[in-house]
Amino acid sequence: MPPLRLEFVQSATDLAQLPTSQSEVTVVGRSNVGKSSLLNALGARKRLAHVSNTPGRTRLLNLFEIQGHGTFVDLPGYGFANAPAAMRAGWQAMIEGYLLERENLKMVMVLVDGAVGPTKLDIQMLEWLRAMGLPHSVIATKLDKVKPSKRNIRKKDLATKCQLEEADVIWTSAEKGTGIDRLRGLVVRWLS
Ligand code: GDP
Repeated sequence: MPPLRLEFVQSATDLAQLPTSQSEVTVVGRSNVGKSSLLNALGARKRLAHVSNTPGRTRLLNLFEIQGHGTFVDLPGYGFANAPAAMRAGWQAMIEGYLLERENLKMVMVLVDGAVGPTKLDIQMLEWLRAMGLPHSVIATKLDKVKPSKRNIRKKDLATKCQLEEADVIWTSAEKGTGIDRLRGLVVRWLS
């Protein structure tokens, strides 16, 4: 599977500003989970997602086109520990509004740090997505940071905490390229 051809289209402060899409996937996760690195790996271009890491853009919805397949929206990372409550509430409203009302949203990729396991916020996000009946998949990041001798137990543990079967979790390493090809294939399938 060749790298996805991702091109940044625009940022938006809320759903109303986004152009319509025929088919879309999105990604959520706490800040530092490895979202930009994964996005760069899927596109196999260095610093492709740097745009979503520039100050001011980290709190926006960032829309990319996946040429030939559909669109991809990078949602702001959750769990900014230092953010004031009012700001956090604002982001939450923006993210929930997008997730609940976006037409043609085919898949919500929930990134979980494979080296540390699911956080409370990750579990809350999964429970909310289940309650809302939204299609979602758990992608575990940073597999290379888990010692080979601990991988089996870690995979089992992460799946259990997410209330999933082991085979339902997609393990990746942006650093080593593990699982990237498979994830590209899944993204294309979700969009089709
Ligand atoms: P974001 O805040 O979710 O966009 O996360 P970043 O992609 O910026 O990554 C956060 C930190 O984790 C950075 O220091 C990355 O170098 C590191 N990181 C991301 N993915 C991997 C990975 O697959 N393996 C390792 N070892 N580190 C990673």
